[in-house]
Amino acid sequence: MGVITAKFGGSSVADAAQIRKTKDIVMSRSNRRYVVVSGPGKRSSEDEKVTDLLYRYQGLAAAGDENGAAAVFSVIEERFIGLKRELAASVDIESALAKVAADLTAGASADYAASRGEFLNAQLIAAFYGYDFVDAAGLVLFDEDGNFLAEKTNAALSEELAKHERAVVPGFYGTWPDGSPKTFSRGGSDVTGALVARAVQADVYENWTDVSGFLMTDPRVVKNPHPIPVISYREQRELSSMGASVLHEDAVTPARLAGIPINIRNTNAPDEAGTMIVSDDAPEAVSPGVRGISGKKGYAALRVYRNAAGGGARILAPIFAVASQRGIQPDFALSAVDAATLYFADGADASALASALEKESSETRAEETTVAGGITLIAVVGNGVGADPGAAAKATAALAEGGIKSYGACFSVSETNLLVGVADRDYEAALNALYAKFS
Ligand code: ASP
Repeated sequence: MGVITAKFGGSSVADAAQIRKTKDIVMSRSNRRYVVVSGPGKRSSEDEKVTDLLYRYQGLAAAGDENGAAAVFSVIEERFIGLKRELAASVDIESALAKVAADLTAGASADYAASRGEFLNAQLIAAFYGYDFVDAAGLVLFDEDGNFLAEKTNAALSEELAKHERAVVPGFYGTWPDGSPKTFSRGGSDVTGALVARAVQADVYENWTDVSGFLMTDPRVVKNPHPIPVISYREQRELSSMGASVLHEDAVTPARLAGIPINIRNTNAPDEAGTMIVSDDAPEAVSPGVRGISGKKGYAALRVYRNAAGGGARILAPIFAVASQRGIQPDFALSAVDAATLYFADGADASALASALEKESSETRAEETTVAGGITLIAVVGNGVGADPGAAAKATAALAEGGIKSYGACFSVSETNLLVGVADRDYEAALNALYAKFS
């Protein structure tokens, strides 16, 4: 029987009742042997995540606000001591908390502070399950510039985890070469889960959260969208880059490299199958069709005109050079013979690049630039969608039937993606119209 790696996110481990659910899930399959946990998340919408409390605590301690820091620390302390009591976990959480306080008073970093939510929670949960606690420190590795070391981490994690039949590993952080904690970006326990899955060559990486997988589109905009039972890594990345995010961006790569499917599951509804994210060429993934539709508002389009520029790289390369000198990154770009259109998630970037291009030397100077904001881009994602001439016609028809003007873009960059532009004010109507047509 293959191994399962299960990762539980903040809401799944927010209080003792939730942690009991995770134990039932873990114990219900004897091969759920490696578990990665987040720090305790929100227990209600007004509550604060322990990670946020820790960042706040560190900020106050660093600013020398002793009273403020002590007040926040007592909230953190209460949460962990409450968990220990309710779970009857035999672990010396009091001494661990005292060490956190002492280290922060002595000037420990924000990364150190934030990492302690996962560190302490994983110890409690390991004791509650009767699993070994395996710290991520010294196993999840970064270089001196803060770059994540994928292969070294994989070697260190597999060597260590091979010594443990069953283990709980804290998510979200690893260590700098000097051994001090360095965190991934927010939501990074998903990444640790994928690293552990790869290191133990799991059959599946279960990512347990508070939704039963992905829905075809945003349920806040479209009523009762269908769930997505299966999606490929590639499709999932395209959807999440356009705003449909359940999983941390960097969590997909380690699983993809190792060919491990990711199963998004709901801790509060463990009988539901959730969504399977599988290899791009897996038989379940290759059937053509629209898998999901997601969109983002607030793009700005910068149109550039330069006579006799020549299309493609001849007009785009100098524009990109100027953009990168200024640290600006366009999200999408299109070009014609003497013109280019670049889309930016941040409108200020479009304006900054427009004025920079007008000041350039004659070789690259734009003769004309215009910036138009308030654009929504909607991605219709699915295997073969981008290559299907019918898909663009269908999208255009969906908009026309809904009386919605398409705004400058209906183009496909990859086989799996068709991008449709509309005005921000038409976002909701367009998403409904496209969903109705493609679902
Ligand atoms: N606790 C961290 C956060 O709030 C990491 C995680 O939960 O994945 O971002």
